Amino acid sequence: MNLTLNNGVDMPALGFGVFQTPPDTTADAVAEALRVGYRLIDTAASYGNERGVGEGIRRSGLDKSDVFIETKIWISDYGYDETLHAFDKSAGKLGVEQIDLLLLHQPLPTAFDQTVNAYRALERLLADGRVRAIGVSNVMPDVLDEILRRTSIVPAVNQVEVHPYFTQADVQSADAAYGIVTQAWSPMGGITSYRGDEQSTFDDPTIGEIAERHDVTPAQVMLRWHLQQGRSAIPKSVNPERIAANFDVFGFSLTDDELATIDGLDTGIRRGPEPEDVTPETFAREIPEA
Ligand code: NDP
Repeated sequence: MNLTLNNGVDMPALGFGVFQTPPDTTADAVAEALRVGYRLIDTAASYGNERGVGEGIRRSGLDKSDVFIETKIWISDYGYDETLHAFDKSAGKLGVEQIDLLLLHQPLPTAFDQTVNAYRALERLLADGRVRAIGVSNVMPDVLDEILRRTSIVPAVNQVEVHPYFTQADVQSADAAYGIVTQAWSPMGGITSYRGDEQSTFDDPTIGEIAERHDVTPAQVMLRWHLQQGRSAIPKSVNPERIAANFDVFGFSLTDDELATIDGLDTGIRRGPEPEDVTPETFAREIPEA
């Protein structure tokens, strides 16, 4: 199942995430994901595992053109020249000449000129054919307007926190108005679990009931909910059984009522960092050379 981005490039709707996947097990996880059918891998310079992603892809024996690779520039590499160089670092570690989708990981409200210059570097990389599509992450509607005002190419994707407990309907509508695909990070609400919240999405009774009705797992219900609402989702796992199960979501459909019921679980509470709290001072991290 593909989504066509606003520049005509096709992207698989369901991908595989590797945030918090240790560098030395990333190649195994990625190779396993590709073996069971995923064709989109989402990583980031700041995850420290781009080399493992590249190795996993090579190990899969698939042609590189059959795997959609997505990575993100970290804030410490923002600025026009810095971001151009950050592309070289990521492409070098991934072992590819071209990256399918390159995102800015976070806008920097206190260093907005640097953010805009980083985005202009993405536009350059797109014009030069080094990337096939460009986008952003964790961008709220007001910041999106500001980026669009100062740059020329509408992002293809905005990757933001979306799971049943935090749906960000306002962000989704703003993205849709510009033809931007909303891509859900923590699509199963993994963050509600590894943060140690009292109630995680995986244990939600309402999701559990819907899962039972369809004889699937809560994770599968949540992933199906994204796909049926037109979002991309990038579930992460290092466990082979869960890697396979999270991709096995094409054999059932949720009803409109079930989709609405899941929408109704929104708490309005963000689990990831507040976008305006992300500053070069608090989140700096040097990204090593390739
Ligand atoms: P997910 O919703 O993908 O949940 C992953 C967590 O749930 C892991 O702890 C995983 O453990 C566990 N898990 C996986 N499958 C199942 C299952 N079927 N049943 C029960 N538990 C399961 O959350 P993430 O936060 O990892 O987000 C996914 C991806 O989104 C990331 O890998 C990354 O690519 C991206 N992301 C982007 C961010 C951004 O700022 N742009 C921020 C955060 C994430 P285990 O591995 O042991 O299975």
